[in-house]
Amino acid sequence: MPARPLRTPHSALRTRKMRAAVLYGPEDVRLEEIAVPEIGPGDALVRVGAATTCGTDAKVFRRGGHPTMIRPPAPFGHEFAGTVEAVGEAVQGFEPGVRVACANSAPCQQCRYCKLGRWSLCRDILYINGAYAEFIAVPERIVKQNLLPLPDRVPFPQACLVEPLACVVHGAAESNIRVGDTVVVNGAGPIGLFFIRLAALAGARVIATDLSEGRLSVARELGAAETIDASNCEDVVAAVKALTEAEEGADVAIDASGVNAVWEATIRMGRPGATVNLFGGCKPGTTITIDTKHLHYSEMTIKGVYHHTPHHVKQALDLIVSGAIMPEKFISYESPLDEVVPALRKIMEQDGIKSAILPHE
Ligand SMILES: [Zn+2]
Ligand SMILES: [Zn+2]
Repeated sequence: MPARPLRTPHSALRTRKMRAAVLYGPEDVRLEEIAVPEIGPGDALVRVGAATTCGTDAKVFRRGGHPTMIRPPAPFGHEFAGTVEAVGEAVQGFEPGVRVACANSAPCQQCRYCKLGRWSLCRDILYINGAYAEFIAVPERIVKQNLLPLPDRVPFPQACLVEPLACVVHGAAESNIRVGDTVVVNGAGPIGLFFIRLAALAGARVIATDLSEGRLSVARELGAAETIDASNCEDVVAAVKALTEAEEGADVAIDASGVNAVWEATIRMGRPGATVNLFGGCKPGTTITIDTKHLHYSEMTIKGVYHHTPHHVKQALDLIVSGAIMPEKFISYESPLDEVVPALRKIMEQDGIKSAILPHE
């Protein structure tokens, strides 16, 4: 039986080619002409308005893949926003021409963890890649949960922030931040800067540490009260504690670096009873050491937090639309698609915060 016609003339696109960045292996990303992805009845095709680089991309670019998110060869990139180009016949609520923001995954809503409301632990989470391209297909599950209409006034590069920000909204919600708390954030890359801004918005006094004075100046613009340049500080833990009440440590200590030694330092920065959020993912297979006496007598809570949920994606979009997160501070460069590799190198070299790739420029 022939497939029923799509509501929009997607067949016209089917023979069309598009330019896309394809990941082949470690530091091997090639710009290629590939077919515009086909969509099924519940899917949407999005014309990419912008796609942003992130720390995960840098990691994947260096390693040549990721065990759960992307296996090469595969179209690359996961943070994007754009305009609906075509929708399958079963899609409701989205028409061609609608501007959208989108997260890179959606949970199954069927497994044990989804039923427990722990969507970020979903055993069958569906990820998409291929944002560094002229078009990207958004599968039904993501259309239903994490494709969101975007107001005209929000530029596409800023709307791309919805995905990484959703991770941090989730992380902040798990960090027990209260008005008047002192919160230390270690690492002032995009993720750390989101934490700094959210903690400041929550009424906390924020101490930020990083190796780059440039990033720390952005941290101050986003609300950090104190900044410590770890590149010229002998004992960062002592320097942080010196800025806290009775030098006992921060109420909340967050790692946004993904560096094992910084995880250990983050734990030592917490006061008795602190919440410690080890958010930055370290290299798989590595370990850290914790002083058992410190953990026991300090009654601290040490937790790992991963990814986002549909609820946090919506909250993230609200924070971007309202301007509260100051999204413009996160986009340092805009480049055409041919410059995706230099843009990935920029994030590896910590040059600026993020680059936005504009595939149709
Ligand atoms: Zn990302
Ligand atoms: Zn699930």
